[in-house]
Amino acid sequence: MHEMSVALHLLAQLEALAEEHGANAVTEIELSVGALQGVVPEALDLAFSAAAEGTIAGGATLVITEVSAEALCRACGQAFSPDVGCYVCPSCGAADARITQGNEILLTSLECKCSEDN
Ligand SMILES: [Zn+2]
Repeated sequence: MHEMSVALHLLAQLEALAEEHGANAVTEIELSVGALQGVVPEALDLAFSAAAEGTIAGGATLVITEVSAEALCRACGQAFSPDVGCYVCPSCGAADARITQGNEILLTSLECKCSEDN
């Protein structure tokens, strides 16, 4: 399940960040998910809740923002929205496009609680 590996990767990232900032609980996470990742937000939310149980991010709210896919044709410079796995330029038909957006998963915001006795 793709979403579970994304969730586990995210969790590892959160634990490292929380440790770095001396936080003892993560309460809210905002994530930008590119359309080309093929991640289903509901499935990621479920996978994350399951994976985070008992960890520093247990019970944290996951806010997912989907980012649409954008590509730029290298041949004619046309910007277009590609479908997953199909990057043919609608203007000139070249299959030589650069993905400019929608191919990443980014942690955009993190809220955590710091312990008060340190
Ligand atoms: Zn083109």
